[in-house]
Amino acid sequence: MPVPVSIRLSRTVERVLRGQPTSDGAGVKLTRVLAQALQQRLDPFLMLDAFGSDSADDYIAGFPEHPHRGFETVTIMLAGRMRHRDSVGNVGLLQPGSVQWMTAGRGIVHSEMPEQESGRMAGFQLWVNLAARDKLKAPEYRDIEPAAVPRFEQDGAQVRVIAGASHGVAGAVSRPTTEPIVLDLTLAPGARFETELPPGHNAFFYVYGGAVEVADERDAPVERERMAILRNDPAADGVVLSAPADLHEPARVLLVAGKPLHEPIAQYGPFVMNTTAELQQAVADFQRGVLTE
Ligand code: MN
Repeated sequence: MPVPVSIRLSRTVERVLRGQPTSDGAGVKLTRVLAQALQQRLDPFLMLDAFGSDSADDYIAGFPEHPHRGFETVTIMLAGRMRHRDSVGNVGLLQPGSVQWMTAGRGIVHSEMPEQESGRMAGFQLWVNLAARDKLKAPEYRDIEPAAVPRFEQDGAQVRVIAGASHGVAGAVSRPTTEPIVLDLTLAPGARFETELPPGHNAFFYVYGGAVEVADERDAPVERERMAILRNDPAADGVVLSAPADLHEPARVLLVAGKPLHEPIAQYGPFVMNTTAELQQAVADFQRGVLTE
């Protein structure tokens, strides 16, 4: 059961950004919300893509076999079905409400292909960095079914605790070192939700429905399809979010926070290491077919 939380001082909005339309995989249309330019500011998060379309043309090509090394991918499905297969032998079905948490570690080759020919496909993929000492560890993979994602409801807020904890409710995933908090929120019009965030964490949220006010209207509402970076205020112990009462639709928000690694970040496509030499090694290992060994 959730325990009451009372935030003394809410974080405020530092910056509001709009994602960039792009395509990835074999031509899947998506919005890159967190791009490379924000990797230092939002350390340990490397990328956030939002995808959502009713048109099969936008997603049907999927993400055929491709490698990863050095970080974790979190796929949060809202609508539609995708089949995952990887070099470790895992096969999983991503379905509405499910979450896949994959630690690439030293190397994984996988594919993510639509398991539908029409209808809506929507969700997120978040990349979480690994500490230098963990980048070459063995890969791990977890498929979390919709019913296995802890949820609670409080004062008009429905909270799915994907990672970390909120109101004393532990999430489906808990990770050492980066201590990520990932909450999927639905706030009814007029609902107000507060949650703890460790002061040292970098934090942001993405609005995918309605709009949301921060810190009891101290900031202008953040609209749908916008990302807000939350200011790192050492005195703030959390964040207060509310859905405008006059909007007549719920606010849908993905709230993300994590403890920064403060390590150099070197990225080349699907590889994220600390140095250029390590990236060259990853490419060479992939070309020689030993990335996953
Ligand atoms: Mn991938």
